Amino acid sequence: MIPVGEALARVLEATHALGAERVTILDALGRVAAEDVVSRRAVPAAPYSAMDGYAVRHADVSAAPARLRIVAVEPAGTVVATAVETGTAVKLFTGSVIPRGADAVVRIEDCDADGDHVRVRVPVPVRANIRDAGEDIEPGQVVLGRGAAVGPADVGVLASVGRSTVLVHQRPSVAILSTGSELVEVDDEPGPGQVVNSNAYGLAAAVRDAGGDPVVLPIAPDRLDDIRASVIEATRADAVLSTGGVSVGDLDFVKDALEAAGFERIFWRVAQKPGKPLLFGRLAGRLFFGLPGNPVSALVCFALYVRPALRRLQGHRRVHLPVVHARLAASVRKTRGLTEFVRVSLCDGPDGLVATAARSQSSGALSALGGGAGLLVAAADAGELAAGVSYPVVVAEPTLARETPPF
Ligand code: AMP
Ligand code: MG
Repeated sequence: MIPVGEALARVLEATHALGAERVTILDALGRVAAEDVVSRRAVPAAPYSAMDGYAVRHADVSAAPARLRIVAVEPAGTVVATAVETGTAVKLFTGSVIPRGADAVVRIEDCDADGDHVRVRVPVPVRANIRDAGEDIEPGQVVLGRGAAVGPADVGVLASVGRSTVLVHQRPSVAILSTGSELVEVDDEPGPGQVVNSNAYGLAAAVRDAGGDPVVLPIAPDRLDDIRASVIEATRADAVLSTGGVSVGDLDFVKDALEAAGFERIFWRVAQKPGKPLLFGRLAGRLFFGLPGNPVSALVCFALYVRPALRRLQGHRRVHLPVVHARLAASVRKTRGLTEFVRVSLCDGPDGLVATAARSQSSGALSALGGGAGLLVAAADAGELAAGVSYPVVVAEPTLARETPPF
């Protein structure tokens, strides 16, 4: 049995980013760049007007009011050859290229048109309302760095420099293999002693949430050769999650089946609750997580060990769930020697977050993990957890944000 920190370190040590693939920029959203994207262009390509108005020479309007002759009109998307000379102006619009000779734009609100003349009411400083070429992006600039996670603004930037595709790290396919002779499919009515295979669904959802592609395999009954055939089949994916059968019971065949298939064990059993029987290693070059069958144990192990691995496979630098600190509302009993992940709900208190332990801490009580629950982390050497004391709580990302906009 190894401590939680060592288990996590060994998982990360064994996990390396997958190769790259070229995808369209919209499909790159949420993925990690596997190349430095260098712009060959300036954005904007030419100086342009930030306002509807008139391109002028600022010296002509420094003693405003001033009357100028309109020598051309330049809608956005067109470029006039006419230069702005002393005493003249070109009418233009937001986005119009600044004509030769002009060094400022006067807003239309500060002008009165008068046939082919315009009366400018106010002076403007040099470069007023002009956006410079390359103000956003210069030629040669790295607009997306290798290793960066691609967000919506990055997708827009890639488009603005004329890139419709980008190299990103591959997403892992993740096989999900549920073992247990008691398991039935979700549409079957469970008979006595039977259990719906909910792990396949919870884990498939968690895999998708972590950016992976879940591949759910048929249920494997608790028989050595069935499980062995299934684990071999599962290594067609980039990573494998099995559930059930990793404990010390007579019918816990996953370890034996794996060993018969050439498994390289990295650890088995972690000093934690829930999830003590967690098994981890490599099979045919694939990461293999043998998760316990209890639904809470399986998902807690996913959040703490599998999710970081799946994110690292995708090249992410930030792989862990966020941590907040919260005071316990009431004391919680705990056994010394194991790190405990206490399922809690969080709410705002007068002096920061308050954590309330879920009524059932049983590793079968999956509902205690729903609805934005957090995992309060109680160190292995701690005894009873006292009310009012602050503890770290691992949370799912969306629960971090306050829902009231600050405006
Ligand atoms: P095991 O780890 O195989 O000893 O299973 C522990 C508990 O988890 C048992 O009560 C199982 O019925 C339950 N369990 C195992 N696999 C699943 C599954 N795929 N979906 C839901 N519950 C499961
Ligand atoms: Mg079982």
